[in-house]
Amino acid sequence: MNLFDFTEIPAEGERWVRFAKDFLQQLGFHIEAPPYRDTENVFDFCAVEQIPGKFNYHPFRWLVSCRHKAATRTAVKESDEIDILERLLRSRADGFIGFYSTTVSPPLEFYLTELKNKFLIKDYRIIDAKSLETYLETHSFARIAFRYFPNYAQTHQVLHFIEDDYLPILCEHCRKDLFKALFTEDQEGVVVRLRRRKDTHEETAVIANIYVACKGNCDAELQAKYCNGTDLNAVSWTYLSDLVSSPAFLDWILSFLRKIGTDEFIYTTSALEKELYLLKALAQYTLREPTDKKLTPPPKMIFS
Ligand SMILES: [Zn+2]
Repeated sequence: MNLFDFTEIPAEGERWVRFAKDFLQQLGFHIEAPPYRDTENVFDFCAVEQIPGKFNYHPFRWLVSCRHKAATRTAVKESDEIDILERLLRSRADGFIGFYSTTVSPPLEFYLTELKNKFLIKDYRIIDAKSLETYLETHSFARIAFRYFPNYAQTHQVLHFIEDDYLPILCEHCRKDLFKALFTEDQEGVVVRLRRRKDTHEETAVIANIYVACKGNCDAELQAKYCNGTDLNAVSWTYLSDLVSSPAFLDWILSFLRKIGTDEFIYTTSALEKELYLLKALAQYTLREPTDKKLTPPPKMIFS
């Protein structure tokens, strides 16, 4: 039995495409809309990577074709991928990625190999169910796995407690738990730092307050509340989603320590308390014990 059930992602709608974009972004690709919108393949998109040269970086554009046939358990056939070469030319893409929830059929794979051998395309890759599983099982893809595969999340621990109770990260405006939203929806939370303006030319920056908000309206409301008619400026926006990988979390701690270790930054007591709370809350995820195996009975879920 497979660890991931790809039918958890609905066959209809754009969810499979969103999953593909999140997945490739996590792999380091830059996602772009194709320059030409194909009416037959409206969900095609481009994933761009930078190939290093001696003096410069060269973009390599992949045309990504998403096919989600997990419900029928059938391989992706040539008839599912019409006009590959045309689509590549129109998208000015160098290579083709088939992003499939099942497998590729041998004739389609043969056709792609032929295109490559005849130098009609530079390269192709098939990301199928098996290779997806290999990535999704790793720590760096855990957030994506939890978000798109709720049943998987039920049997694998998302977070572990640092204190007696779960520490939420609430939007200061609408009180939504943005930490929970990280694993269940596409809602983005931002951490915003407020710096006190100085009349003098002092070099020291005073971080007077910090807030967490939903990106967009809630952020704008809080910015107005804190900054209009006051001596505060919003100076840094960090997405919560950018802080939940272990290296990013460590970077955050190190840069924070460096900041407070110099004369250039001063935190007010309340700002410092909020920064420390955020560190603790995020540690529930970034410092959780790895649980690669299914647990029976299912562990007590923090998010139910
Ligand atoms: Zn909000």
